[in-house]
Parts: sequence; structure tokens; C-alpha cells
Amino acid sequence: MTTYVQVAVNLATLPELYDYHVPAELEGSIQPGSLVVVPFGRQVMQGVVWRYVSTPQVSETRPIGALLDPQPVLTAAQRQLAEWLANHYLAPLPVCIALMIPPGLSRQADTLLSLRAEALPPLETLSPIQRRLVDLLKDRGALRGAQIDAHIKGVDWRPAARRMTARGWLTAQPILPAPTVGPRRERLITLAIPPAQIDAHRSQLGRAGSAALERRLTLLKVLASQREPIAPAWLFTEAGGGTTADLKFLEERGLIRSLVGEVIRDPLERMDIPPLSEAPQLTREQQIVWDEVQTALRRVQDGQGVPPHILYGITGSGKTEIYLRAVEETLKMGRQALILVPEISLTPQMVQRFAARFPGQVGVIHSKLSQGERYDTWRRARAGQLPIIVGARSALFTPLSALGLIVVDEFHDESFYQDEIPPAYHAVEAALMLARLSNSLILLGSATPDVSLMERARRSAWRILHLPERILAHRQAVQKQLERLGKPALLKTGEGESAHLDLPPVQVVDMRQELKAGNRSIFSRALESALEEVLEKQEQAILFLNRRGSATHVFCRECGFTLRCPRCEVPLVYHADAAALICHTCGYSRKMPVTCPQCSSRAIRQVGLGTERVEAEVKARFPHARVLRWDAETTRQKGTHELLLRHFSHHEADILIGTQMIAKGLDLPLVTLVGVILADIGLTLPDYRAAERGFQLLTQVAGRAGRSPLGGRVILQTYIPEHYAIQTASRHDYEAFLERELRERRRLGYPPFVRLARLELRHADPAHAREEARRMANQIHAWIEQSGSTIEMSGPTPCFFAHRAGLYRWQIILRGAEPGALLRGKPLGDWQVQIDPPSLL
Ligand code: ADP
Ligand code: ZN
Ligand code: ZN
Repeated sequence: MTTYVQVAVNLATLPELYDYHVPAELEGSIQPGSLVVVPFGRQVMQGVVWRYVSTPQVSETRPIGALLDPQPVLTAAQRQLAEWLANHYLAPLPVCIALMIPPGLSRQADTLLSLRAEALPPLETLSPIQRRLVDLLKDRGALRGAQIDAHIKGVDWRPAARRMTARGWLTAQPILPAPTVGPRRERLITLAIPPAQIDAHRSQLGRAGSAALERRLTLLKVLASQREPIAPAWLFTEAGGGTTADLKFLEERGLIRSLVGEVIRDPLERMDIPPLSEAPQLTREQQIVWDEVQTALRRVQDGQGVPPHILYGITGSGKTEIYLRAVEETLKMGRQALILVPEISLTPQMVQRFAARFPGQVGVIHSKLSQGERYDTWRRARAGQLPIIVGARSALFTPLSALGLIVVDEFHDESFYQDEIPPAYHAVEAALMLARLSNSLILLGSATPDVSLMERARRSAWRILHLPERILAHRQAVQKQLERLGKPALLKTGEGESAHLDLPPVQVVDMRQELKAGNRSIFSRALESALEEVLEKQEQAILFLNRRGSATHVFCRECGFTLRCPRCEVPLVYHADAAALICHTCGYSRKMPVTCPQCSSRAIRQVGLGTERVEAEVKARFPHARVLRWDAETTRQKGTHELLLRHFSHHEADILIGTQMIAKGLDLPLVTLVGVILADIGLTLPDYRAAERGFQLLTQVAGRAGRSPLGGRVILQTYIPEHYAIQTASRHDYEAFLERELRERRRLGYPPFVRLARLELRHADPAHAREEARRMANQIHAWIEQSGSTIEMSGPTPCFFAHRAGLYRWQIILRGAEPGALLRGKPLGDWQVQIDPPSLL
């Protein structure tokens, strides 16, 4: 009896499954999840066997060509997840499958054919094509399919090869060569002259008195202070400036040398893993939470369904310790655990803690891995050799056949939503679905849980667990570190190794008052004197600048008034090219006013402020302070995050200036001051989640201060001190924020009270983009009319980032109970669809 299967053929435009039969020689080795080669039209393609079917839909089926990997590449739960993704996010199935197969595998899988000369019949009995294969393999030895293709062009030799294999004349061996990746090499810089000679070369470095000369001199001096060659990015960071052109200049004059050093590519090998660490005794609060989690895991093991659990606990309240216990319990049950963390910058610390507790059992997956690293980790995970996977969003798609626990840490983070390449999906939603499909416990942890999910948790009776207090951990260790840094401090009394720490007091400074008092600096008087004090006491400070959406919102420096859309209440965005203010939700537009509509001041304008500017001001005011800048520019190179952090935590700098990235990270006991330069920036973005994002960020940044017995404080500078996100963040009051935010969302008709779908078009030609946007809007309007649906459409409007990377971007927004349903199966052309996007920018 012939076995029939349906195959998802790997071509992005094919939404359907196709029927094939399993040829005799593959009988027994093909199963759902198998990666195979199939004939498709006149081509051969890769595909994944989806399911068995008793009777095919077509009268004549073709045979599967080859099996590419003896093990299935997708688990049963993953196949269901792929189907869910395709349906929910309106994406073709192969595109969703592609998320789950490492690129190195899908591209390089092949079959190795070799001749069994001893079994060959007389050559004259062979067909011409069989003869050609025999000649070729005799001549060249064993060859891969791709190599044979190169020799035998224009003829499909595969059926002939298959018959020959069935007769035993050839052996066909599916091969999965490890992706061809060599060791990673990195350019490093070192001084080529003795340090004492630097000054003698001064005149060579540029025009006397020029900035270039000073910059190059600094570069040389920094190099002189290094024992080892260092990476350019690190050099620039240390020197507080410098360009690739400077390096070229110095190298051409024989003052520096660049060499290439090898960097080990296993992310775990490059990391200092602390020695095996024992689990600390849980605090009372942790014990209560842990009892619940443990009970849930036992129910999972008994095959009972459990609802998702939200673990709401401020930074440092001991959530990770709960994750570690849960993983331990999961492994004891003979099952596997998946830990998702938001960003690459966060991964190393998280990985370190897991690797220290479970040596040799942890794999790391994130988008910056090389093909080789990724492929190896994927394969080891599938073979059950890595029962714990820690990683960013894409780690969710690791094949773990006995999954028992999914943890999503900082689940409010927007990096869990990806819309750069199709399919646009939300990893938290996908994780919730995977937990259901695999009967796993899902634990969602955050200090500032996502507002929409919190509301859903209440409505759907999920468990909400709470860790209300910060733990002052490792009291002895912190004490020692402080003593080493010459800062002995009294420890509070508490239980054993841990004690509670109060949250740092937050001072909100009204920058309008500063202006009235004649202070035009970016530092308020309060922040300036606080910085002075920190430097005097030889402690550390972090200055935080939220850069997202700076330069674009328009507000009054006199009274703090922000110009908003009269219809949607979102802030209007200034477009320099049109000298106009535009609402990116409904398209409303108006001229830039000359005076403030509220107080008639002329000080109404858009703001722009970068980390470089903050750095310059700090240096001007505190010339002796050692300053580190941490932003996208200084950390472009891999590994610099850790370097910067280590540098700062060893007190090799006094002030760290940074963007979003520094909002998370290590305990830094010497940091006693966090200054937020302008707390309003993110809040005034024209987006329904702006307040939530602002609150989360401010809460996180504030959590960086006072993580040791030295205490600490936070200063938030703002022009809108009365904003509820700033007010609640300054009181560390998540509950109050949640209630207020939900009220606002209900009033304005935003998630979780409606659902959103966003269509986005990108095109190089502005006129075409506008035209097509109108056409699509009319089309959608017609679809709504036809279906009698209650879905509301707004737009088309230019996106907030209206012109990016040479492309003009337009959007249309749909809201209603299930706006995605309206679009399902409809021809959408070049439009990308985002379901439940966390941002409308
Ligand atoms: P979170 O994940 O909520 O930020 P962590 O689990 O990282 O919190 O805990 C904060 C600090 O407290 C860490 O340094 C951790 O090692 C330590 N810690 C957690 N639980 C305990 C405990 N029961 N006893 C001692 N130290 C603890
Ligand atoms: Zn509007
Ligand atoms: Zn005003």
C-alpha cells in the first residue's frame, strides 16, 4: 500500500499543502516533520512533510525525491504553531516554517551519491542518463546533488538516480554538512611606536590647533595605555571620539598597526561563567510564589492544563531566582525549558546565571549568532542535549520535543514584536500559543507588565503572582566590593544573605521653572548639584536620554504645552519638508504655530538632543569627571556592551551616559544617582502606547539607582511634570498607572478594548505610494461595506517615520473586534500586515 503525505513546499508564495507519495526506498523513514526534496513543476524544491493522508486530492501523485535529515526538523507542536502563525498573522505557511529551520540547514542540505561499482550490471544495459551518472561518479567519486546538477544540465537525473539507488547500484546518503563558517576574525589596533615618542610625532597628526590633531593624539595616548591590541569600537569609546579615517591616517604614517585576531564564536565560550552557583534560600515572598509555580508544574506533568502565570515583580525582586527553580523542577520532570529575554544586550547576564546553575545544559540562541553557532545549537537542542535554551525572540522556535516550561522575561518589551521581515508576529502571543500546544507552563515576568496582557490576565483568570520587594542580595559580596572600592557601608539587618532594599526616592524637576529662573542649561540646578556631590564622594551616576522620537514633537518650553490632534489627541509631528504638523493616526494636518496656543509664548518649537551633546555638556561642567558614552554608535560592535559594563562596574568611569540600552543590566552598587535628562521625550510620541512605554522606561531607569547599601536617588527632568506616567513612575506605582492607562485606552478606543491591524506600504516613488495608499483605502472601504462589518478604518496617512531608507511609507489602520479577519485571503499586493502591532509609528 502506498503512503501519501502532504508537503509544505518551501516557496514563500505557496500557501497550500501539496500531495506526494512516499517511494518504496523511503518507506518507513518519512514522517510528519521530515525535511524532504520534492519535484515541483519542473523544479526540485525543499519542503516539510506535514501530515499523512489516506487518499490524495489529485489523481496522480509524484514521489518524494529525497529525505534530507533522518530526524524530523519540526516537532508536532511546532507544526501546529506554524499553522497558527500563518492563520493569525496572515502569512504564507512556508514563511512561518522558515522561522523554525536554521538558515544553514535549509540552504545546504543535500544528498551524497556514490557508486557501488561491485553491484553494477553490464554498462550496455544502462539507459543513457544512467550511463552518464555512472561515468561521472567513476570519474569524480561521490558527489552531492548540487554538484551533479552542475555537470548534467537540463536533464532531471534524479528519477534515474532513484531507480539505481533502489537496485543497490548507488548509495544515496542525505547529508547535512555543517554550514561553512570559519573562525570569526576581528580587526584589532595597537601602537606601532614606543609611547614615549608620541609627543615627538605631534606635528604630523594634523594642522596645529585642529580638532583632528587632538583626536588623533588622544587615540594614540589611549593605545599607549593598553596592554593588548584593542578593537576600533572600543578604542573610540575609550578615546571619546575618533573615526575610521583617523585610523587609516595613523596607520599610513606608521604610528599604529592593525592586526587580525581570532575571536571564538561560541557565545558561551567567550563569556566568563561564574563557578557553579548554589540556589540561595528563598525569601518569604519568593517561597509563596514558588509554591504556586511548583504546583503548576506538577499539574503540567500530570497532563492537566494550567493557565499562564504572570510574575509581576520589580527589578531585583528575585524573579530570575524563581525562573531558575522552575527550570530545575522542569528538568527533574524530564522536560525542557525555554527562556526568552528581550534583547541581546540582556542575554549575556541571563545566560551567565543559567549556565552557572546548570553547567553544560544551556544553549543560547539569538539573531546575531553565526550560522554555525545557530545550526549547532539547534541540532543539539533537537537531540535533547541542551534541555535549556536561553535567547531572544527567535529562540522560541527551537525544536524541543518535551517542552515543559516557557519563561518570557520582561515580557512587556517591544523587541518581542518583530515586523522587519514577514511574518510580523508577536513572540509573547506565539509563546502563549506554544505553551498551550505543548502543554507547558508559561511564566511571564516583568516589573511593568504589559497593560493589554494584564487586562487579559484578569478577564481570563490567569494567575498573577507578585514579588513586591527588592532584595539586597549577596550582602557579604556587596560589602566586600564596597570595601575594595574604599566605601565600607553599614548593612541593614535582615534574613541571612538577603535583606530588603527600599526603592530610591524620585525627584521630579519642572524644567519650565528652570527656564523662568534663567537656567538654560540641559541640567537643572538639582541635577547639577547632585552630580557634583556624586563626584565628590567618588560614587557613580548614570545619565539617561531617551532618544526615540526626539527632534520631532513640538512643545512649548514656557508652559510645557504639546500640540495634539483635535480628533485623536495624539501629539502632532513636525515635518520640516512641509513645514507642517501632521497627525499620523488620522491624517489631520496644520501649520506650525508661531506662538503657543496656551500661553502665547514664542518658545514653542521641536526638541532635539543627542547623547553627544549631553557628553559635551558634562565635560564642560565637570572637566575632571571620567565619562563613558553608551549608545548605538559606541556599541555597534559585538561584545562592546559587556566591555562597557565591566569598565563602568570596575569604577573606571564616574558618569555613564546612555540611551535605552542602559535601562537594564547589572547591579551597580556604586551608582547612587540616576538622572533622566528629559523624561517627556518618549511620552509625546504620537502613539497609543507612548505613555506605557514611557512609564516602563522611567521605572526601569529609576531601578538602576540605589542597588546597594549606599542608597541612591533619581532625578527626572521634565516639561510636563503633571503627566500621569511621570507622576506614577516617580512614586513607583504600577497599579495606579495601570488603572489610569486602561481608562485612557477605553475612552479613546485602543487595545485591549479593540484590536488593531495595520497595513503598511513602502515604495521608492512618493507619488506611486500616495496613489496606491488611496486605492487600497478605497478597496478596504468596499470590503467593509460588502461584509457589513463594524470595523473602522483610519488613513491612509504617511507613517511617523514617513521616509526611511529611500522608501516612502504609508499606513492604514483598522480597528474592531477582529480586524485581521477582514483581510484574510484578500489580495494585499505589496502591503505588509501587522496584527496587534504594539506601535503605530
Ligand atoms: P529580578 O529577576 O526580579 O531582577 P533577581 O532574581 O535577579 O531579580 O534577584 C536580584 C538579586 O537578588 C540577584 O543578585 C539575585 O542573585 C539575588 N537573590 C535573589 N533571590 C535571593 C535570595 N533568596 N537570597 C539571596 N539573594 C537572592
Ligand atoms: Zn488625528
Ligand atoms: Zn506655552
